Amino acid sequence: MAKASPDRKHDAFPADNDRVVLLDRDGVINADRQGYILSWEQFRFLPGSKAALRILKERGYHVHIVSNQSAVGRGLMTEKDLDAITGRMLRAIRREGGEIESVQYCTHRPEENCDCRKPKTGLLRQVARKSGVDLGRAWLIGDKLTDMEAGNAMGCRTIFVNSGFLPETENTRPGRPDTPDFVAENLLDAVRHTLNDKNR
Ligand SMILES: [Mg+2]
Ligand SMILES: [Zn+2]
Repeated sequence: MAKASPDRKHDAFPADNDRVVLLDRDGVINADRQGYILSWEQFRFLPGSKAALRILKERGYHVHIVSNQSAVGRGLMTEKDLDAITGRMLRAIRREGGEIESVQYCTHRPEENCDCRKPKTGLLRQVARKSGVDLGRAWLIGDKLTDMEAGNAMGCRTIFVNSGFLPETENTRPGRPDTPDFVAENLLDAVRHTLNDKNR
């Protein structure tokens, strides 16, 4: 028997925390490619991703990007190159009616053992700290099992999208720390699931 708990009483007016989506970038918003995205010329929006971001904005969702970009730490691109790509991406998204509230990158190499490179949770915790997000009520959408692992570790509801460069879902099974709550075809499909979720 479900009893009304005190924190459910505002359900008629969902708090912002019920409408937060954390997105991986490459393989979710734009096509991933071998050898990293090093310039705007290599950045290609995936079909439907800008429409998905517009829908999230229209429905009042707060969207944050959490993305590993080790090409910086590897010396393949500079912070400035990365910022230039980010600026153009944000403008292109805005032109289509979407809005990204914040962008968090881990630019370290794996060997640096930082606490932000996914599957570690530092980028997610940065969002929580800077934007006051309750990660336990947020969605995390990514195309790698390392994204799922980070999201699950923080109690996010996780969605794996198959649109990425390296589909990995064949390895998922219930009980593993990197098993997604839901598998979607692409960001638009993931957003549809988010909006339809009955538990929200
Ligand atoms: Mg990715
Ligand atoms: Zn890092």
